[in-house]
Amino acid sequence: MLDVLRRIVQEVNGARTLEAALSTMVRRTRKAMQTDVCSFYLYDTELERLVLMETIGLKPQAVGRVSLRLGDGLVGWVAEREEPLNLEDATAHPSFRYFPETGEERYSSFLGVPIIHQRHMLGVLVVQQQDNRRYDEGDEAFLVTMAAQLGGVLAHALATGALNCPTDPSGQAVFRGVAASPGRVIGTAVVISPPADLDGVPDLVPTDIADEVRRLRNAIRQVSDELQATATRLIGRISSQELALFDVYQQILSDASLGQEVEKRIEEGQWAPGALADVVRRHVQYLERVDDDYLRERAADIRDLGRRVLAHLQEDNPQTPESFPEQSILVGDEISAAILGEVPRHKLAGLVALRGSSNSHVAILARAMGIPTVLGMVDLPLPRLNEAPVILDGHRGRLIVRPSADMQRHYQSLIAEEQAVNRLLENEQDLPCVTPDGHALPLLVNTGLATELMAALKTRIAGVGLYRTEVPFMTTERFPGEQEQTTLYREQLAGFAPLPVVMRTLDIGGDKDLPYFPIDETNPFLGWRGIRVTLDHPEVLMVQLRAMLRASQGLGNLRILLPMITSIDEVDTTLRLIERAQRELNEDGITVERPRIGVMLEVPATLYQLPALAERVDFFSVGSNDLTQYLLAVDRNNPRVAGLYDACHPAVLAALARASREAAALEMPIAVCGELAGDPAGALLLMGMGFDALSMNTPNLPRVRAAIRRVSLANARALVDEVLQLTTCSEVWQHLEARLAEWQLAHLLPPKD
Ligand code: PEP
Ligand code: MG
Repeated sequence: MLDVLRRIVQEVNGARTLEAALSTMVRRTRKAMQTDVCSFYLYDTELERLVLMETIGLKPQAVGRVSLRLGDGLVGWVAEREEPLNLEDATAHPSFRYFPETGEERYSSFLGVPIIHQRHMLGVLVVQQQDNRRYDEGDEAFLVTMAAQLGGVLAHALATGALNCPTDPSGQAVFRGVAASPGRVIGTAVVISPPADLDGVPDLVPTDIADEVRRLRNAIRQVSDELQATATRLIGRISSQELALFDVYQQILSDASLGQEVEKRIEEGQWAPGALADVVRRHVQYLERVDDDYLRERAADIRDLGRRVLAHLQEDNPQTPESFPEQSILVGDEISAAILGEVPRHKLAGLVALRGSSNSHVAILARAMGIPTVLGMVDLPLPRLNEAPVILDGHRGRLIVRPSADMQRHYQSLIAEEQAVNRLLENEQDLPCVTPDGHALPLLVNTGLATELMAALKTRIAGVGLYRTEVPFMTTERFPGEQEQTTLYREQLAGFAPLPVVMRTLDIGGDKDLPYFPIDETNPFLGWRGIRVTLDHPEVLMVQLRAMLRASQGLGNLRILLPMITSIDEVDTTLRLIERAQRELNEDGITVERPRIGVMLEVPATLYQLPALAERVDFFSVGSNDLTQYLLAVDRNNPRVAGLYDACHPAVLAALARASREAAALEMPIAVCGELAGDPAGALLLMGMGFDALSMNTPNLPRVRAAIRRVSLANARALVDEVLQLTTCSEVWQHLEARLAEWQLAHLLPPKD
């Protein structure tokens, strides 16, 4: 049964249009359940009605005509309660309603299940049968399981349908995701795919089929020539049996085999890379299931050949800086830090990805760069999106494809309004960050990207509160060497001197992968991350520590911060390594002072060991991003649980308030460098709690400074007392919004729906 289920889901998934997906779903379900009728009622959110969209067994004329309200008839009953309904005699149920157009009078048994995706009811799948068949528990379980799996597939098909045949007469379609970096922008979608990754190739509809076929043939010929050349080189060096494998590869590539199938797929309306990926995937899936070692190995060969052909296809069509339109909005399955570096900054207007969430590291980088971003657009259909005019709303997490003229005008005026507020705030950027009752709160910045504006920034901040050293590591092809790192760090330290610069040791793992040091784990956020990795690789950590110390020579403004500390042992070991690095430099004749050393409070365990930590280090810095994810057990990178991730959760606020109080008692400086510090409401709360400094992305400075300059410390403290009494996130946010509105600061908060 599992096999049948998997196949149905795969087939529905592979359908190119919504109609095809629905038709496959009802046909295959009817067959699998050996029943008379299978129908699907789609919930139309505009009409608030369930519309019969597809049936096999009822009269086809009823499709699109029969519709019911929630709670109306048996289908409405299932939809309203979001529960299955299994009846031997449907007519006996009090909610039964008869629709003569369907010809369903003959079918007395009824089994209906809702299809739900991310808490939204998408529709109802129904099977019916003559002769009072009693659908047994197995039937019900099968349909429920299938409906659960089809939720995501159907949501995706619906999104594709919205794009291909928009319900809006203007041709406009709106998609929703997780707001990841604020700002609004009007631009052109550029669909990107990672190099030579068959799984990352988007579906695109070709504009010129003949040209796609030509590109494919060229790419295959190039791979074939390369293989030929390799085989010739290897003659005499490997056995004739091994050499014969090259003939097998040539055969697989030949027109009669892989090539022909891919061409057929192109003719069906898929661009060459997509067609290649489809065909390779199909073969690999088939071969991997076969119970034969030889054939299973061929699966790896086909995947490898596919990758080689893909690499040539991509070469053929490189995305060069010149090829990016002005106001490019990059859209991809996943956006990496490396891709960000490839697009000229002046052309990069926005980012959209199917994966990721608001606290993913790409979101943090985007915020640091001030690029509006929406992530977790799980249902966004990439086909047909390339080169489409779009509006990206990073405040609300929306992408509007082919916006109507009215919508464009609306957004142009919103953008102009926002620019006006920004200009106003800019005027007070050089004023001190002091509350009306005279409390000074140092504002620092988070860096990692090259900051050209250091000089302008220096007069406005109290230093760098977090330099994420892993960011420059992400754009190189190997670990940068000691000299290379020294130059990089010297630039930061000298650029901001005499202000302090807090450099964090390499914090990789989680969602921060280095291309040359992949970490593949089932549970990466609970795995090998931050200090855990670097303590296991002292050769990497020592190079970094020496580079930091060397770079600080004569400046005295280096601070070192340790990420992901969980235990005191980790601190002790790292302190010993720092001392060793200092000693080694001294032996080389380079005298550097011992920098101040701090620990990140981001693993909840540290909150219970503050006195022991305080004995060892000089300052604390709260990583509210990770602290939130670990306190709430919500993966910061997973769009499915994005709604549960909230740094203003009462438990997180209680933990922060407690940490600040305890640090004060221990006389330890404590700052916050997570994203909460860059939110005007969050910053007021943190100030009221007693944190000594806040570090944030540069674009957040104006709003936070404006909030602090207008709210007294006394009021911020009162706000904390009020908020700590509340029990839910929504109560907290409502309260914060109400207070900010009262203080005439509503314009500092992100715009709402
Ligand atoms: C944090 O966890 O809050 C933090 C500042 O570090 P990062 O976001 O880089 O994990
Ligand atoms: Mg962190």
